[in-house]
Amino acid sequence: MRDNSQPPPRHPTRAVTIGNVGVGGDNPVRVQSMTNTDTRDVPATLAQIRALADAGCEIVRLAVLDEDAAAALRPIHEASPVPLVADIHFDHRLAVAALAAGIEALRINPGNIGSEAAVDTVVAAAKDHGAPIRIGVNSGSVQKDLLKKFGGPTPEAMVESALTHIAYLEKRGFHDIKVSLKSSSVPRTVAAYRLLAGKVDYPLHIGVTEAGTPMRGAVKSAVGLGILLSEGLGDTLRVSLTGDPVTEIGVAYEILRSLDIRARGPEIISCPTCGRTEIDLVGLAEAVEERLRGVTEVFTVAVMGCVVNGPGEAREADIGIAGGRDCGIIFRKGQVLGKVRGADNLIPAFMDELDRYLTEKKE
Ligand code: SF4
Repeated sequence: MRDNSQPPPRHPTRAVTIGNVGVGGDNPVRVQSMTNTDTRDVPATLAQIRALADAGCEIVRLAVLDEDAAAALRPIHEASPVPLVADIHFDHRLAVAALAAGIEALRINPGNIGSEAAVDTVVAAAKDHGAPIRIGVNSGSVQKDLLKKFGGPTPEAMVESALTHIAYLEKRGFHDIKVSLKSSSVPRTVAAYRLLAGKVDYPLHIGVTEAGTPMRGAVKSAVGLGILLSEGLGDTLRVSLTGDPVTEIGVAYEILRSLDIRARGPEIISCPTCGRTEIDLVGLAEAVEERLRGVTEVFTVAVMGCVVNGPGEAREADIGIAGGRDCGIIFRKGQVLGKVRGADNLIPAFMDELDRYLTEKKE
């Protein structure tokens, strides 16, 4: 019998490779995002790609709107620390130019790029470059005939739309495919992926589109992606937030961590505070979070407000502090290291201990 506390078994998919990053099959669930700079602005776009990569983003997508944007791809690609995906609508020449510039994958819907000859050209170029193609169906982009047939952008309509795009590629012997089916509705997104997973074995790029501003978008993404991931669905994910895409990466890893699928950086456990809280827990938790920003080692830190529940959690953590009356007790792997007296001394003392812990961890 499966241990239900273990990460969910993955729905089997074939693997594709984007540059040096495998997606699907036995590969880890990949975290990706998209730049929101003007792709023609090479320095700004590269700066954002680097910031995304530093945060743990493994694949970055860029919008390629015109020939000037396509011309910027070569210098961007040459300096990018991660593989790139060119996001193209309608113009197959931009797709060919992106591949010629070295871009590792395309996001393009072959049914939207015009003639059969145009599809032939893109597929031939993708084969030549070993570049996968992501078919990305959004509820807002389902073909008119399917909207009519299904009475709107239903999960069935989205899946049929994806299958029609997939057929364009399969008919040309091209199977290096990933698929996404995004809607801003969580139930519709979940239903669409479940349906598609029963029909194809291509890797699934999961996401809830237009999820919203950081708080709302993070919640919507966590609910939608959490349901899918808990069913083993999803080979790569993007959390879509209105704002700086770097924020998306932290949210993506927290979603993966909360299901024990992947972890990057420390987990910070802090209690919600209550009438028993005896230390400046908010200040301490914020200081800990700030100190640990950018740290990639995986460990647990507990910051707890009182001696009622605090020591229990703090003892379980790799390093923790539990507040007492005008004091705090510091733990390391279940052992009490000592008592710090005086409210003003708690943050500096715990920061020193955290620094010592990180130094030892690196040795
Ligand atoms: Fe309240 Fe203590 Fe629980 Fe924090 S650990 S919420 S202070 S009881």
